[in-house]
Amino acid sequence: MKFQARVAIGVCPLCGGLSAPHLTKADAAGKIYNIYACSNCTVWHLHPLPSTSELTELYQSTYFKERSDRGYADYTSEKIYRSVVSTLAKNLRDLDFFSWEQNLRDKKLLEVGCAAGHAVAFFADRGWQSLGIDIAREMVVAGQHIGRNLLCADFLRHDFENQKFNLITHWATLEHLPDAEAFLRKMVQYLEPDGRIYLSTCNTGYFARRKGAAWRYLNVPEHVFYFNKKSLAELAARCGLEIIRSFSYGSGFTTRENTSWWYRCKKRIGDRLAHFFLTGDMIVVELRSRANPKTR
Ligand SMILES: [Zn+2]
Repeated sequence: MKFQARVAIGVCPLCGGLSAPHLTKADAAGKIYNIYACSNCTVWHLHPLPSTSELTELYQSTYFKERSDRGYADYTSEKIYRSVVSTLAKNLRDLDFFSWEQNLRDKKLLEVGCAAGHAVAFFADRGWQSLGIDIAREMVVAGQHIGRNLLCADFLRHDFENQKFNLITHWATLEHLPDAEAFLRKMVQYLEPDGRIYLSTCNTGYFARRKGAAWRYLNVPEHVFYFNKKSLAELAARCGLEIIRSFSYGSGFTTRENTSWWYRCKKRIGDRLAHFFLTGDMIVVELRSRANPKTR
């Protein structure tokens, strides 16, 4: 209570609207973080935002090796690869990617936040000229060792020269970025005029609101922004983009091995409802430039 008495109204780092204290959450070491909610665009954000150097340090060492409630257990394992590709294929089906892809003459992909490059490998196998970029050196090196076309660099500082991409993907990474707008603006710079951006992030839907501080994606300090369709539309508009497709998935029932028939049944129904009502834990959007509103 003493802590809450010291917090104050803030400014939304996304839209400049009024932000107010919404939740508090402790990290594994017991340090308390404030999560504010914007009364205008509805985004939730850490307050104050951590610096880029603080976050870079966090991702350089143990993040991808230690699952606990932060990072992934051995991200380069075959099991994780299969899991990542399975989710990716479902997302691509819901984005109608496979029919869009058929009409493309050039297939150049950039994945921003590629980790070990599982998705980069998936697209390369489909004949795409694929490139991934990430600052997590250990992961990038692991991917490079198995032949994946990956760069270890800061996306905001890297010069792609005159390259343009038909598709730029950004899977489950936006929530980690203190300067999400700068990332999206830079993606626009390297996007072909009729290109697409696919982006996924955690969604402050029904489960986030119901579970509060116990919500499974409320990871501090790694996740600095928590979006929904409204706040993503605000972000997109600020970068000259528009959402042309969106859906959500994840009903809170996690994928487990050897579960009961009843659990699988509840998960199936829950997942369908989350998808239909945009209330799931994750949201996926397809974006295109507003300056080039070509029909699909
Ligand atoms: Zn806002």
